[in-house]
Amino acid sequence: MEYKSDIEIAQEAKMLPIREIAEKIGIGEETLEPYGRTKAKVDINHLKDQPRNGKLILVTAINPTPAGEGKTTTSVGLSDALSKLGKKTVLCLREPSLGPVFGVKGGAAGGGYSQVVPMEDINLHFTGDFHAIGAANNLLAAMLDNHIQQGNVLDIDTRQIVWRRAVDMNDRQLRNIVCGLGGKANGVPREDGFDITVASEIMAVLCLSTSLKDLKERLARMVIAYTRDGKPVTASDLRAEGAMTALLKDALKPNLVQTLEHTPAFIHGGPFANIAHGCNSISATETALKLGDYVVTEAGFGADLGAEKFLDIKCRAGGFAPNAVVVVATVRALKHHGGVPKAELNNENLEGLEKGLPNLLQHVENITKVFGLPCVVAINAFPMDTKAELNLVEERCKALGVNVALSEVWAKGGAGGKALAEEVLKLCDQPSQFTYCYEAEDSIADKINAIATKIYHADGVAFTAGAKKQMDKLAALGYDKLPICMAKTQYSFSDDASLLGSPRDFTVTVRNVKVSAGAGFIVALTGDIMTMPGLPKVPSAEKIDVDENGMISGLF
Ligand code: ADP
Ligand code: MG
Repeated sequence: MEYKSDIEIAQEAKMLPIREIAEKIGIGEETLEPYGRTKAKVDINHLKDQPRNGKLILVTAINPTPAGEGKTTTSVGLSDALSKLGKKTVLCLREPSLGPVFGVKGGAAGGGYSQVVPMEDINLHFTGDFHAIGAANNLLAAMLDNHIQQGNVLDIDTRQIVWRRAVDMNDRQLRNIVCGLGGKANGVPREDGFDITVASEIMAVLCLSTSLKDLKERLARMVIAYTRDGKPVTASDLRAEGAMTALLKDALKPNLVQTLEHTPAFIHGGPFANIAHGCNSISATETALKLGDYVVTEAGFGADLGAEKFLDIKCRAGGFAPNAVVVVATVRALKHHGGVPKAELNNENLEGLEKGLPNLLQHVENITKVFGLPCVVAINAFPMDTKAELNLVEERCKALGVNVALSEVWAKGGAGGKALAEEVLKLCDQPSQFTYCYEAEDSIADKINAIATKIYHADGVAFTAGAKKQMDKLAALGYDKLPICMAKTQYSFSDDASLLGSPRDFTVTVRNVKVSAGAGFIVALTGDIMTMPGLPKVPSAEKIDVDENGMISGLF
C-alpha cells in the first residue's frame, strides 16, 4: 500500500483562519497578534490574572531507537481525540530547528494524519523566534569581545570564555574556530566556536521564563566567562540584558497554530534535550492551562531524560504538576530493545518483542513509583505491526496492571486515538501525589546520584576528579542549589548507548558539571555532548524544493 507523505497530507488540509482557532479557547482580538492568516502570537500580559485550571498531560516515550517512536505524532493525535470527545483541548509542542530539518531527522510537526499546520512554516522560519534567539546570543558575544578589545576592565581571561556564538544550522565547520585575526584593529585573537541556536542557553532561558521581568533577570545571571582570578563574569557585568530582552520581547509570546483537525496548538521554544531540558516554553504551557481544560505536551527523548527533566526542571520552575503521563512505545522499537537487528524489524518476532518489554516497563514504573503519577502506555501502531505483536504488548501490560491503549492516530487522526483519550481522561480524574526525584537543596552529587539510582537504576555514580573539582567550585560560588540537567545518551538508561533494554549492574560516570545560571540548572555531562551537529552525507536539504507557485516539497 502506498502512503501519502506528511507534507502531502498537510498541504491538503483546509486550515481555519487563526482568529477562529483563537476564539475556540476564548482568545479575543486584544490578545491575538496574527502573523499572516494561520499563525499568531498571544500576548500573555493580557492573560496575567487568569487562573490556570486545565489538566496537564505529558507525552513521553521509551528510549529512542532508530526505528522511531512517534511522541509528537501521538501528542497531536491525542489532542485531536480529546477534542473529538468534546473536551476543550490545547496542544503544546516545541518549535523545530533548521538543523534537523535539513539534516537527518526532518521536521517535527507530527506525522501522517496527526500533524500541526502550516507544517512548512512551522518547520522553516515560523514566527522568527529562533532568529531572535540567535541575534540575542550573538549580541552578547559581540559585546563580550568588544569589552576585551576596549581594554578589558573586567579582566576577562580569554582562555576561560564559556559563551559561544550561535546559528540555527547544522554546520560542523563552525564547531571550533579562531577569530579576531587581522591585527590590532580587528579584535583580540582567540579560539571560539558556534553552537546550534537550540543549544544556546538563551533558548533554555526563554523557555523557562515566566514573564519579561523574569526573562531579563535570567539573561542577566548567565555566566559568560571567568576572570583571571576565577570569578564568574555575567551578562549583567556587560550591561547586555536590556538589549537582549528587547530582541526577545516578541519571541517570549507563545505561537498559536492548529492541528489538521483544528485543535489549537501552541508551538513555542525548542531547547536541546541533552545540555538543556528539551520541552516547550513555560509561557506556552501556562497559557494553555489558562485557556484549555486539557493540555497535552511532549518532552524530548525517552522518559529517563525528557520526562525526568520536564518534571524536575520545568514543573519545578513553572509550578506545574501533570495529571497524567502517556508513555509511547512501538512494536518496532521494543523489538530493537529486545536485540532484533534493524534490518529485521519489519518481520514479526514475538520473542524479540517480549525481550524488549522491560525497557517500557521500567519507564512506567519510574513514572508511577518515583514521580507518583498516573500513567498509560500508548502503543503507536505502525503499518507493518502484526496483530499478534500488538496483542502481545497489550496483554503483557494488562497482566502487570499497567494501563495500555492502542493508538492509530498516525493512520486515522483523532479517530484513531479514542481509546487512548478515554484512558487519559480516566487518569486525569484520579488523585495523584506528584513528587520530584530529588530536592533542589540537596548537594549536587546527591541530586545526580538520586537520578542515576532511582531513574536509571544504576548502582551509583563515579565522578571524575575534574567533575569533583567543578562541583566544589560551583558550591563555593553558590550555584549548587539548582536542579540538575543530565546530558546523557538518549539511547540507553545508562551512559553507554549500546546497553539496550533495562540494564543493571552499571555505574554512570559524570565527567564534568557546569552551571547554566540563567536557565537555572546545573548540567551534568556523562560524555561528549554535541552542541553543533553536522550534516549527513546526503542531507535532507537536497530533497527540499519550492515550485514557481511557492509550493514546498520534500519536507518531512
Ligand atoms: P518523536 O516525536 O518521538 O521524535 P515523531 O512523532 O516526530 O517522533 O515521529 C517520527 C517519524 O515517525 C515521523 O516522520 C512520523 O511521520 C513517523 N511516524 C510516527 N508514528 C508513525 C506510525 N504510527 N506509522 C508510521 N510512521 C510513523
Ligand atoms: Mg517529537
